[in-house]
This record gives sequence, C-alpha cells and structure tokens, in this order.
Amino acid sequence: MPCSSLAEKKPAGANTLAARLSRLGLRSDADFVLHLPLRYEDETHITALCDARPGVAAQFEVDVVDSEIAYRPRRQLLARVSDASCSLRLRFLNFYPSQQKALQPGARLRIFGEVHDGYLGPEIIHPRFHVVGRSESLPERLTPVYPTTAGLGQATLRRLISRALERTALADTLPLAQRERLRLPEFADAIQLLHNPPPDIAQNILESRHHPAWRRVQFDELLAQQLSLRRAYTARRARGAPPLIPTATLTAALLASLPFKLTAAQQRTWGEIASDLGQPHPMQRLLQGDVGSGKTVVAALAMLQAVEAGCQAALMAPTEILAEQHYRKLAAWLQPLGLDVAWLTGSLKKREKSAAIEKVGSGETAIVIGTHALIEDKVEFPRLGLAIVDEQHRFGVRQRLALKDKGLFAHQLAMSATPIPRTLAMSYYADLDVSVLDELPPGRSPVTTKLVSEARRDQVVSRVHGACRSGRQAYWVCPLIEESETLQLKTAEETFARLRADLPDLRVGLVHGRLKSDEKAAVMAAFVRNEVNVLVATTVIEVGVDVPNASLMVIEHAERFGLAQLHQLRGRVGRGTEQSACILLYAQPLGELARARLKVIFESTDGFDIAREDLRLRGPGEFIGARQSGLPLLRYADLEDAALVEQARGVAEEMLCNAPQAAEAHLERWLGSREELLKA
Ligand code: ADP
Ligand code: MG
Repeated sequence: MPCSSLAEKKPAGANTLAARLSRLGLRSDADFVLHLPLRYEDETHITALCDARPGVAAQFEVDVVDSEIAYRPRRQLLARVSDASCSLRLRFLNFYPSQQKALQPGARLRIFGEVHDGYLGPEIIHPRFHVVGRSESLPERLTPVYPTTAGLGQATLRRLISRALERTALADTLPLAQRERLRLPEFADAIQLLHNPPPDIAQNILESRHHPAWRRVQFDELLAQQLSLRRAYTARRARGAPPLIPTATLTAALLASLPFKLTAAQQRTWGEIASDLGQPHPMQRLLQGDVGSGKTVVAALAMLQAVEAGCQAALMAPTEILAEQHYRKLAAWLQPLGLDVAWLTGSLKKREKSAAIEKVGSGETAIVIGTHALIEDKVEFPRLGLAIVDEQHRFGVRQRLALKDKGLFAHQLAMSATPIPRTLAMSYYADLDVSVLDELPPGRSPVTTKLVSEARRDQVVSRVHGACRSGRQAYWVCPLIEESETLQLKTAEETFARLRADLPDLRVGLVHGRLKSDEKAAVMAAFVRNEVNVLVATTVIEVGVDVPNASLMVIEHAERFGLAQLHQLRGRVGRGTEQSACILLYAQPLGELARARLKVIFESTDGFDIAREDLRLRGPGEFIGARQSGLPLLRYADLEDAALVEQARGVAEEMLCNAPQAAEAHLERWLGSREELLKA
C-alpha cells in the first residue's frame, strides 16, 4: 500500500502508524524521499571482539554462551557471548521478554555497540542486536539512522523510505546549466547516496553534512523557499493596484508643520515608498527600522499620498496601546491639515464603533487607524489604496490575510522594529521589498544600561524616586511569567502595591493586558501628561509607546526576557534629549543563556548587532517565530550560509522566468501540500 494513502486515512488515533508518520511530516513519497538520515552505522563488516576499541561503536558477530536474569544490584538481563577471539558480557537494564528469549544459548547474533570496561570485565550495555543465521551476508551499504518519533522504529522507517525511493522518479528539477555552474551533484545521486552510502565514504564528512550530496539537498531546500516566496510576490504584483499619483499638497503641508526635519534615512525610505505607490501594481514593502528611528512619520507621508490620490489608507497595529499611540500622533499631525482620522478598535462602544464603520464605509473618512477590529467583516473600505500593518510579525497569518482581502488591490506597507540580519531578511522577506531606516533622529543621547542584582533593589527604588522628583518619569517593567497569565497579573499587582508603598510621595500607575482598553488608555494618557510619575507595566508597553519625558526604565527579572524584548523595552526610553538609563534587575543564580543575553544587551544598543546575537543564541527558527510567519522551518539548510542563500535566490529568479515547469516540479517535491500556508 502506498504510504500516502496510509497517512491520509483521517481519524487516525495518536498511535497508528499513519499518525506517527504524520508527526514526522511524512505523507507523500516525496516526503519520505526527503526524510534524510541523522547519522549512519557501519554494519558492512564484522569486528573481532578482541579488536574492539573502547568507546568506538562497532559490529560484532557472536554466539550466546549463556544468559540469566540477575537481581543485583537491580533486575537485569546478562548474557555471555563469544566469537572466535574473545568473550564478553552483554548487559540490559531494561528489556522485553522477547529479547530475553532471543538470547538462547547457541543463538548467533549480530550486535552493534561500544565495549566498556565493566566491573566484571569487558561488557556492552544495551547493544542493538538481531539474531542471524549461520552464514548471513553483510549489508553492502552504511545503515542510515533517521530522525524518528516515539513508537516508530528504525526498521519500519527504513523499509518505508526504501520503498518510496524505489517508486519515485528522482528527476532533476534544477536546470543542467545552473547545476553545472554551481557544481552541484545530480539530485538522484545525492539522494541515493545520503540514504545508502557506500562503506568507503568518509562517514564524518557525511555526518557533519559537508558532503556535496548534502550541499545539493541544502541548496534545493533553500531554492524551494525562494521559489515559493518569489512566486507569491509575482502573483500579487500581477494583480494591479490604483497608481497613487502624488500632488504633494498634503505631504508638503505635513512636512512644513513638523517640528523637525526628516533624517536622510527617512527621506530615502519615503522616496522608495512614494515611487512604489505611484505604480499600477501593489507595493509589497517592509519598512524596517530600529525602535525610535521614526517610522511613524514615514507612514503618515505614505497615507497622505493615498489621500492626495483620492483613496483611503488604513493602519493596523497589534495592540490597543500601540494603535492608540499611532492614532494620537497621526491625528495631531493630520487633523490640522483638515483631514478626518477615524479610530476603530474592538473595545469601542457600540455606537462609536458603528459611527466609525459608517464613516469609513461611506468613504467620508480617508484615514483609519485601529487594531484587528479593522479587518472585521462589517468594515468596508470602498476606496482602500494603502494598507499599513505595524509590527506585522505579531499578527497571525490569518489576520494578515484578512487585511489583504480587504484591500486586495491596495498597496501594502509592513513596518517592523525587529531588525533582522541580512541573510534572514533575504529568505524570510524574499516576498517583500525592504526599506531600512538605518539612522536615528539627531539629538538622542544613548541609553546607559546597568545590570543590578535584585539584592540592591532598594537603591534602584531610590534612583527612581530621584528621577521623578526632578520632573522625569520612569517605567517599571514587571517580571515576565510565561507559564501563566494569571500569575503574571498577580505579580504585576504586587509590584504595583509594593512600589506604591515604597514611593508614597509619587503617583504610581499600573497598566497590564487584562485592563479594559479605556482603562488602559486612561492610565497611558495620564502618563503622557506626566500625571503619573512611575508606570508599572507588563510587556504591553513593549512596542511603540512613545513618552519622551520618561528617561528611566527598570526591568525586573530581566533574565527572564528575550533579547529582542529587552531591546524593545529599552527603546521606550532615550526618546528625549535627557540622558536616559535602563536598569536590568536580575536574580541569581543566572543560567548560561540568561547570562549571555544580559551581556549582549549590556554591551550593545544597536538593534542589528543585538539581532545577530539573538539569532546566534536562539537559531533562526525561533528567532523569527517561523511557525507563526507560516514558513516551514528549514531542515537541512542553514540560513547563515549566506552564499548558498544568495545562489538559491538567483536561481529562483532565473527558473521562474525561464523554466517555470521545473520550478513547479521543484515546489511540488519540497513543499507539496504545505505550500498553501506560504501564500499567506
Ligand atoms: P518608531 O520607528 O520606533 O516607530 P517613532 O516614529 O515613534 O519611532 O519616532 C520616535 C520619536 O522620534 C517620535 O517622538 C517622533 O516624533 C520623533 N522623530 C521622528 N522623526 C524625527 C526626526 N527626523 N527628527 C527628530 N525627531 C523625530
Ligand atoms: Mg513605532
């Protein structure tokens, strides 16, 4: 029976073979073919027992002399075995009755394991073994060991994979010219070699994945990723969008009214966006800039260009606090230009909400800011020309899709404060054009970072007191408790109560995710007006909050936060001209990873540096939240392999133009049914 039909049978219990295979992502023949070994065992020859070297796994062929179950020090199965050269003992601390039965005196075994010096002489603990006949031939190839899951044995996997290999045509999807230029082996050769390597191959090169066969597989995997992303890009581009021809009336008025001049980076990125918006196909651009680099004003200019062309523009932010910040800032900039700015979140009173929906739906209001309430079904945008998504990686794939549905023909701008290293950007954002704000507005004094042990909390409290008495404000970020939101809330309330008691002459506010949004907004507004001196907060303030008078940030249990989070949090201060500080309170003992993270954040304030270190500490999958982004994790290729990523990108472009059928075949092989997700 073909494995594919096995795996498709639906209500598979968690323990059926199909369910186990499915857990490994094994459905189609192509999936099996691409399920590659972790390592190999050399069972192609027999080592004499007396030639065994301690600590080196080898295969032996032995006869069982006797076996027994011993009870000292605990129940265990012992067998004495010998070959023509020596004898030794096999020891099993856990065993099945079937294993005991197999170890009959006189039975011939092939065993695989490492010999150690035991208490009573040489022994092998838990060898892999099977009973063989008197003159059974040896395998001619190295034995692959595959990644597997509980309850799925190597023998079964090997059988299924080798059947899939027999059935499948391993046609090369890479055009010959490219394959030769990149000096990559043929696909079929590479795959056959990896599943069934000859015994004379350098096993360490194979296992460390430096062999050309691995390189081919890694290239193919990256190529599939690039093809899929570039194809999605091209498909969206083909859709057509209203060209937003600027009249420069509104944008010029905004620029004239600002109390600052754009930085060179803002000017450049704004130019890139403006020129995209004038095209008859949708912009698909990411504006990337470190915290505080001034993305909002660039977004405002883009929205104005849409309005100048008679269209609507929407900005969606992932949290109410962030949306509200955007709203306040944009309203302050745009209302004086005579524009109505609508505000739409889930927590609005019913009447206000329907009024906003009505104004947007009639086209009366051109500019709309909000949370994911913007993509609720009821909201209609008759003339949406531009959709901006802030911190888009925080939205689920589905929500991002929904906004695209609303503005299927709209230009799209994503904004992100998470700087990501170049190779990652190339592969994760291959379906976007990227503009980078690589310059901070002038006049910022860098934030000083201090690491302080929790034992000195009192000193930190008095520093907060001092800062607030001299008119500045402070954030106090509560410990992150990932396991439990309830516990997190409780801790926040305790921290709040404690600080209130410690700082009786200051006004202390509390903001956390469970507050109703008008309560949240009230606290934030009071903080903005400096009616609250110290804002105790959970990570709800992580993104986007902008209160320039706040010059001190304390992060409690900083060791529990991730690097990106710490960087974002720290970015909330240092927004005014005042010297700012970020105090990282940590509790001993520090784990190794926490120590490494704190060191990075202490030593660097550059978002790109920090991102690079973060990537190194966590690996790309977690770094980008790949599951959430809808991208399958790379199994074989390494995104740090910049040269290979770049080659894959080049070949993907060529194939999409010149060999579209090969591109399809390649995608089918590598992504199959998984590709739907990627189109998000
Ligand atoms: P982010 O990129 O983190 O969203 P914001 O857009 O919130 O940054 O900008 C941070 C702060 O810098 C805001 O107070 C904004 O008004 C101010 N700002 C933006 N651009 C400039 C500039 N060119 N010169 C001075 N201040 C600026
Ligand atoms: Mg922002």
